[in-house]
Amino acid sequence: DAAINRIAAGEVVERPASAVKELIENAIDAGATRVAIEIADGGKTLIRVTDDGCGIATADLPLALSRHATSKIDGSDLLNIHTFGFRGEALPSLGAVGRLTITSRVPGADAAQIQVAGGTMSAVKPAALRAGTVVELRDLFFATPARLKFMRTDRAETQAIADTVKRLAMAEPSVTFTLRDVSGGGEGRVTFRADRENGDLFNALHARLARVIGREFAENALQIDATREGIRLYGYAALPTYSRGAAVAQYLFVNGRPVRDKMLTGALRAAYFDFLSRDRHPAAALFIDCDPTLVDVNVHPAKSEVRFRDPGVARGLIVSALRHALAEAGH
Ligand code: ADP
Ligand code: MG
Repeated sequence: DAAINRIAAGEVVERPASAVKELIENAIDAGATRVAIEIADGGKTLIRVTDDGCGIATADLPLALSRHATSKIDGSDLLNIHTFGFRGEALPSLGAVGRLTITSRVPGADAAQIQVAGGTMSAVKPAALRAGTVVELRDLFFATPARLKFMRTDRAETQAIADTVKRLAMAEPSVTFTLRDVSGGGEGRVTFRADRENGDLFNALHARLARVIGREFAENALQIDATREGIRLYGYAALPTYSRGAAVAQYLFVNGRPVRDKMLTGALRAAYFDFLSRDRHPAAALFIDCDPTLVDVNVHPAKSEVRFRDPGVARGLIVSALRHALAEAGH
């Protein structure tokens, strides 16, 4: 089983940033309003995610580390997925490739802790924690030296983690995120912070995008909100004057998940085609929400690609909604 976990882990956990993504998604699934991420040495020696979510009951701690144990889906409904998690793969995978410690507390009970390293689980023991969950992952890939070699420099991995945190922060404006680099020990330094935004969907999102992408983007962004055949597209797309030399400011989400998808970025490009020269890229943060049965998120274990049942509808919606907004703005 440890070997199977290590193989699966290679799929789920490609690098420290993918571990960070899984842990933040678990925190959000748990209803957290605050998520604090600490990393050291590009996440290679330490990733710690602390949340104030619902916690894991002591009796469920060993289960959370078992393969395909998920509290989020009953297995009969793989196409109808509302939470981030549904495979029950992340924690066992992380426990197979690093030293994982989970400390958690549900309201009205005492806190408990479990450890797993290289696939070997410890007994559950009492712990001290006020509320929520702390997941600590040390020495990622220590058990799989071959994968260690594929990690990039601390700087590059730190950058990838920051990018992951920012994307998830855009999708959850009502959650407070902090990212702290504790390399070298001590308090470390906060490298990213976004306090919870209040207000309605668009106010909160606009404020969060100003925080994450930048004030200039927010000031040049057109509000988008359009629905076609059960698919809703909303968010902000920047005026062509705020385009970029690289596709660095394109953030796309499907049912709240950050995705990188050629069809969607192609549609974005097509919408701006008349207004941008070949070497300029539109900037946008766009959310596509639809019934989970209309889109397949099972394409890749890292869950970043999507397959729409009818790609033409999604593409047409993006192109027409953005062209309409650009036209309204005088383009
Ligand atoms: P999945 O998210 O696909 O269910 P994971 O391996 O990521 O699988 O997590 C296994 C289970 O552990 C989850 O279904 C959930 O019940 C529990 N869990 C993990 N992280 C947290 C957390 N931060 N807060 C509360 N429960 C958690
Ligand atoms: Mg998960």
